Amino acid sequence: MLKWLLLLLGATCFYLWLKGKKQAKFNAAQETQTKAKQAKIPEPQAIVQCQYCRVHMPQSEAIAQEDRFYCSTEHVNCIDSQGWAGFTHWRPSPNQDHRPDGVIPDLAVIHHISLPPGEFKDRDCTPFIVDFFQNKLNPALHPYFQEIADQRVSSHFLISRKGEVIQCVSTQNKAWHAGLSSFLGREKCNDFSIGIELEGDNNHAFEEIQYQALTHLSKHLQAAYPNIQFAGHSDIAPDRKTDPGIQFDWDKFQAKTQILLDKFPYGLDSR
Ligand SMILES: [Zn+2]
Ligand SMILES: [Zn+2]
Repeated sequence: MLKWLLLLLGATCFYLWLKGKKQAKFNAAQETQTKAKQAKIPEPQAIVQCQYCRVHMPQSEAIAQEDRFYCSTEHVNCIDSQGWAGFTHWRPSPNQDHRPDGVIPDLAVIHHISLPPGEFKDRDCTPFIVDFFQNKLNPALHPYFQEIADQRVSSHFLISRKGEVIQCVSTQNKAWHAGLSSFLGREKCNDFSIGIELEGDNNHAFEEIQYQALTHLSKHLQAAYPNIQFAGHSDIAPDRKTDPGIQFDWDKFQAKTQILLDKFPYGLDSR
């Protein structure tokens, strides 16, 4: 009798084990099926707009630049209807105002700037210049900052030692970069010019990558403003200013950009 009971118990156990195994297999199959179904449901795509032409597109197809999107490289390189270049880093400065009515810029003024003076060779000083243009320079950080922290100045563009192009003012507006100045008899150059600051000084050659960035910027400025001419700050304010200075290679700049010689009314000699 006991033998039969043990046999029955053994058979029951075997049956339950087999059933359990089948169930596990079934469950695993179900899970795989559910996962496969889930994978087939596409994630909802974020739709973004081109900053330049406003066309809508899936984010995965757009070119991202900071928190902006563009539909094409061509539109990254354009200056948009608000006067902002897509390929630059936008760091708006409050130091700006309107150009006189109907004035379209026809002069690019090249400058140099270095804060604290000369220290760019040892560390990244570009953020200090951006702070300066945004009236956020901390005078406690350097004795020189105490002297200049209250000045209210800006430039449309700044090119860092690493070749980053930063835009602080729309090209449609007036930046405060030229000061008392005269270009071929026309005074108040801020009214009709675009300021481009190169991070540097009179003692160090500008970086090759800065010339590349300046070339890129100048070509696209010329596309937006075909009548634009080029001068240095020292050309339009010779009694007060020496920048971009002896280190700036006008010849190299002209050769890289292929901008016509008559767009350089002060010539190509380093000065
Ligand atoms: Zn576009
Ligand atoms: Zn200057």
